[in-house]
Amino acid sequence: MNIILLGPPGAGKGTQAKILEEERGLKQLSTGDMLRAEIAAETPLGVEVRQIMDAGGLVSDDIVIRMIATRIDHPDCARGFILDGFPRTVPQAQALDNMLAQKNKNLDAVIQLVVDEAALLVRVQKRAAENPNAVRGDDNEDALKKRLDVYRAQTAPILPYYESKNLLKKIDGMASVEAVTESIREILD
Ligand code: AMP
Repeated sequence: MNIILLGPPGAGKGTQAKILEEERGLKQLSTGDMLRAEIAAETPLGVEVRQIMDAGGLVSDDIVIRMIATRIDHPDCARGFILDGFPRTVPQAQALDNMLAQKNKNLDAVIQLVVDEAALLVRVQKRAAENPNAVRGDDNEDALKKRLDVYRAQTAPILPYYESKNLLKKIDGMASVEAVTESIREILD
């Protein structure tokens, strides 16, 4: 089973992806985590993307498309994957369709976590306060505002793209973690 979790920063995609990994043996593929690993390892790619990420912008489509294309062939994705943070633009969504078609794979669902934007800043601040050692370069008010602007301008346009393919399912992302997990279960079962 291959699914996409969609929603603005702080919507809970990563939390739900980890639960799905445990429950269903699917693999979470987070382009944000992959890019942060490149930064931590100080690779040339990490050096290239760091400033863009810290400012809340998007790295280029080519980079993330290549990352996902090599990653979904890995044996740990044999039971399926959960895309978390990808695709984030219409060209990324189109590239994903092409690569899945070439590999004879398909998408089972695109799940949108619908959240109240005003609550997101509080959530992201809470994440930083609870995990001071893991504060992300983009977990600050300015970068979050920018990430929300980018989400509205570049990522939200992929919602109608998946709606037209009858893949889009919307759930209330403001509910408790358990309730969100339950809504996802209902969609997938
Ligand atoms: P995330 O952890 O998903 O919130 O991603 C953190 C940052 O990584 C984003 O703000 C972007 O700078 C970059 N990033 C992650 N995924 C993508 C993507 N699919 N396309 C472009 N940039 C991305």
